[in-house]
Formats: sequence, structure tokens, C-alpha cells
Amino acid sequence: METDYMDVTIEKKKKIALIAHDGKKTELLDWASRNKEILQNHFLCGTGTTGSLIQEKTGLPVQIFKSGPLGGDQQIGARIVDGKIDMLIFIWDPMEAQPHDPDIKALLRIATVYDIPIANNLATADFIIHSRFMNEEYIHPIEDYNKQMKKRMEILLK
Ligand code: PGA
Repeated sequence: METDYMDVTIEKKKKIALIAHDGKKTELLDWASRNKEILQNHFLCGTGTTGSLIQEKTGLPVQIFKSGPLGGDQQIGARIVDGKIDMLIFIWDPMEAQPHDPDIKALLRIATVYDIPIANNLATADFIIHSRFMNEEYIHPIEDYNKQMKKRMEILLK
């Protein structure tokens, strides 16, 4: 089946989701403080504990979702699907097992499906937020799964 694409626009003001596992929270908090000047130009949201800590430490407004293990990752994933989040800084801990591992996998998968920038470590986060695309609109083609679904339905209805 040939692939269909559709253009998706990430606006100049980015909607950034921030998440860090407990073993990585201090790292992300320090990173957010170091990059406050840049982050203040964008809309921030995060899982319960991470988001609250960032708000507390930087003074920047952060939309807070549920804590990760209580569904926060899934809330963020759903917003990526709806186009309400267009960048994910997710500093997960490679040395620690998480009770909500399926949610983490689901979030990483859906962020990949929607082709949003994802940072899983601070070096990548640095490269992303110092990119020129942070200061301009960015248009990217993503696979149009709706068109594919319609084609599949046509075949299945025959
Ligand atoms: P938290 O959730 O920010 O509420 O700790 C993050 C996570 O563990 O996924």
C-alpha cells in the first residue's frame, strides 16, 4: 500500500511536555533552571511530580497532569494524539524498573507515530531547545493513517 502523508505544523510557541523519573528529576530540574530563558517563551506541561517541581524551582507556569504511575503519561500521550503537545522531554531512568512501564512504552510509541521531537536524555534536550526550529514555525509531514484506514475499510467492505 502506498504511503499517504499530511503536513502538520508545530507553531513558533511550542507546547512542551516534561517528565523525569525519580532518579532523574534533579537532572531535569537543573536543566530547566539553566534553560529558563528559553523555556519561558513556550507552553510547559508535565506529569504530577515533575511538573510541580519544575514550577516550584523555576517559577514558570506548568500545566500539571496526574503523576506518571497514576496515568499522567497516558494523559500526555492522548494530548499528543490531539495535537495539543508537540515536543516531549522525557528523561526516563535506564537503571530503574518502573511500575508503569507499559504506559512509558505507549507514550514513546505514540510520540514516534506523531513524529514529535523526543529527548530521552539532556544532551538531546539541549540540541532540541538550541535548534533554530525553536524560534520558528516547523512543518513536518506525518503518515496519514486516516487515509490508510479509509483504504483498508474500502477493501474490507468489498
Ligand atoms: P511524576 O511522574 O512526574 O509524577 O513522578 C513521572 C513518571 O514517573 O512517569
